[in-house]
Amino acid sequence: MRIGFIGLGNMGAPMAANLVKAGHAVTGYDVAAAAPEGVTRADSAAGAAKGAEVVITMLPNGAILKQVAAEVIPAMEPGAVLLDCSTVDVASAREVAAMAAGAGLGSLDAPVSGGVGGAAAGTLTFMVGGTPEAFATAKPLFDAMGRKAVHCGPAGNGQAAKICNNMILGVTMIATCEAFALADKLGLDRQAMFDVVSTSSGQSWSMNTYCPAPGVGPTSPADNGYRPGFAAELMLKDLRLSQAAAEGADADTPMGALAAALYARFVEEEDGRGRDFSAMLPRFEGRGRT
Ligand code: NAD
Repeated sequence: MRIGFIGLGNMGAPMAANLVKAGHAVTGYDVAAAAPEGVTRADSAAGAAKGAEVVITMLPNGAILKQVAAEVIPAMEPGAVLLDCSTVDVASAREVAAMAAGAGLGSLDAPVSGGVGGAAAGTLTFMVGGTPEAFATAKPLFDAMGRKAVHCGPAGNGQAAKICNNMILGVTMIATCEAFALADKLGLDRQAMFDVVSTSSGQSWSMNTYCPAPGVGPTSPADNGYRPGFAAELMLKDLRLSQAAAEGADADTPMGALAAALYARFVEEEDGRGRDFSAMLPRFEGRGRT
């Protein structure tokens, strides 16, 4: 397929490279980043979109997505699909879908889980909102960039699934970290703590797969000085999106709100910026009751 790819950053560049590897013709654009090998560089977002059957965006936030969408939609041919893989707010995703539909285009919101490692390995999971027709068009691209694509319903539902998932992730990571810090203070060995919880009802992805305590469980950022991984500021971004969505939908999310407040403090007032989101463990260990 002929693909336009806008936003060739940490995630976009390896995703575009995997499309090239699968035999697609990819034209890319980024305001700053260079195009990876095999991707033809365009001079503008509209230039990358022209003549493409699918235009993929992988951008920092909803405001930038809307700006780029306004630029690329007039350059796209009727019937083409705008596929946004960024993590943005549900409202922006639905606005962009309406803009695309108004121009006779298909569109999908398809945020990803799996991080830069998954993007490089082509093992991402896509959570997808949009029409079944647009989903069918993009399916071979999901297969080239990832391992799984779940169609979650109409426009915006991919972003809804992503922020609900990451709200659970933020909350369970904090709970896992504070439990390890408590266990330490109670004199419980970390390995014993891991062996019990990872096979008991307190288990979660945060404990079993991405353990915040160094030296126990599978290798994780904790074993690498808490280098990300998934940076604390990206977790904060996603928790803020979930809280904005909860406010808009009148949903009661007290644990999500507290997780957002704790990550905000960690990133903006403490030493969390640039560290993995599991570095909440040394944060809790260094503190007494607050
Ligand atoms: P990044 O900052 O590395 O990449 C974003 C790219 O967009 C940059 O290269 C930037 O120059 C480019 N850009 C900004 N404005 C532009 C414009 N107007 N036109 C063209 N290009 C523009 O970020 P990333 O880590 O690649 O993340 C991209 C998206 O994926 C974000 O929404 C993020 O929340 C989401 N995400 C990231 C991860 C991760 O682990 N990094 C995991 C899942 C989801």
